[in-house]
Amino acid sequence: MASEFTLISKYFKNLTGQRAVALGIGDDAALINTTSAQRLVVATDSLVEGIHFPSCANAEQIATRALCVNLSDIAAMGATPKWFTLALTIPPETASSQWLEAFSRGLATVAKEYDLALVGGDTTAGPLTISITLLGEVPVDGALLRSGASVGDSIYVTGTLGDGAAALAEITDNGATEVSKRLLDRFYNPQPQVQIGLKLRSLASACIDISDGFLADLGHICQASEVCAEISSQQLPIHPELKTNYPEQSVVWALSGGDDYQLCFTLPQQLSHKVDQWIEAGELDATMVGHIVAADDKHAILLDGNPVTTAIRGYDHFSN
Ligand code: ADP
Ligand code: MG
Repeated sequence: MASEFTLISKYFKNLTGQRAVALGIGDDAALINTTSAQRLVVATDSLVEGIHFPSCANAEQIATRALCVNLSDIAAMGATPKWFTLALTIPPETASSQWLEAFSRGLATVAKEYDLALVGGDTTAGPLTISITLLGEVPVDGALLRSGASVGDSIYVTGTLGDGAAALAEITDNGATEVSKRLLDRFYNPQPQVQIGLKLRSLASACIDISDGFLADLGHICQASEVCAEISSQQLPIHPELKTNYPEQSVVWALSGGDDYQLCFTLPQQLSHKVDQWIEAGELDATMVGHIVAADDKHAILLDGNPVTTAIRGYDHFSN
């Protein structure tokens, strides 16, 4: 079976390219020209029970997670999220008024926080799947793309890495009652870095959200920008709780665990000074983890000086 990315590129990628499409398939969101000074930003993500959330998740948790992971793609574009549509497929026996009220409450909590309006969707009976399309706006030429990184740029990540994978391990191993409150919150209520995305506009040379694992997503920046990256494992931001509770796994989770929904961005050398000042002043929660280096044939990532094999890079729905 082809990998997820080969499948997209073979069967769907050449259907893009209509008039008004400024950026089609291949980044965190598409950019569409309008007649205003803004471009429309469009991202879709689907969450399937048993794959993107465990069956023990409650309706409110499923709703907050679904909306937050979509917001993360809009954040990665440096865009302002505004509207969303919801395609809900739900087994009839699940669709009690209690379930739907809790689901609606979860959506409302996140929608209120980010000032989003639900503008349409579809409701069908079937295995529980939530598909959300988020629309936002970004000034023409203001969007952060995967493709702008250059040799010499510094590589940063926001927040801490590895929490998503740790949360999933705890949720699926112990049952939800045993899970650390912090990790449970990170999993069902991941904080999309919308404000940081906006702050990085016209500064960052490239940006992606970390959904499939840090190395996998940094790999997408390398591929789109035709560069390589050098990362130091010592510099990875890992929460102290994770280091203490999972001394063996925490670094591997930080490198290749999914579901962190932090941003990975690159900055030209002359701008990193400004961002480092924000970081020191506590105005930006981000850590410098490495540098962009000249491309070889494979858009490789060097971890502590050694090439990283694709096997440990991250999640692919069709190759794992
Ligand atoms: P992300 O992890 O940021 O959500 P994906 O890895 O899911 O992005 O997708 C990579 C790119 O391929 C995105 O630009 C996405 O819009 C596009 N894409 C994924 N699946 C399809 C599809 N079935 N048809 C068209 N485009 C797709
Ligand atoms: Mg993304």
